Amino acid sequence: MARYSSRLMSAELDRSLEPAALAARDRRWSADTPLGDWPRLAALEPAGRDAGQPVRVSVHWREDEHGRPLLEGALELRLGATCQRCLEPMELELQVRPKLLFGDPAQLGAALEEAGFEPCELEPGTTLRQLLEDEILLALPVFPVHQREEDCGALAEKLAQLEPDQDGRSGASPFAVLAELKRKN
Ligand SMILES: [Zn+2]
Repeated sequence: MARYSSRLMSAELDRSLEPAALAARDRRWSADTPLGDWPRLAALEPAGRDAGQPVRVSVHWREDEHGRPLLEGALELRLGATCQRCLEPMELELQVRPKLLFGDPAQLGAALEEAGFEPCELEPGTTLRQLLEDEILLALPVFPVHQREEDCGALAEKLAQLEPDQDGRSGASPFAVLAELKRKN
């Protein structure tokens, strides 16, 4: 896996895409990029989460047997979210595998369709970052929930355990419990 400086990475991600040229060169590269550099993903992060965590990007451009550009990507990242079952904070682990064919959607052959490729028509000036960000946003669950139901409500349970003691005072403030939970995560 090649490592790139942030300047080179930005050149790959932020210049307008030329799929034909990239595919003709059988271009492939991989890099970890800071989540904070992906504006629409960073905007989804709940306040206080670390924007320095990586978005792992791996892309491979190639031509199909008719010389049409194909892009196969692998994206891995973690995003903060709110569980829609218990309404507590959770972390989404996302793995997105875009497979795109650039060109006329009507010409997508059965073989490519079977291999899971989707036609993609680029607006002029679109960057790879915008394209990949679209793919990640499309892959986000509409109703994120904790993977295991028993993980739901951990915070509420912790707070409920704060029974007042015999003097009628609470043993620990809810804020102390929250701080404790944050420290463990
Ligand atoms: Zn939950």
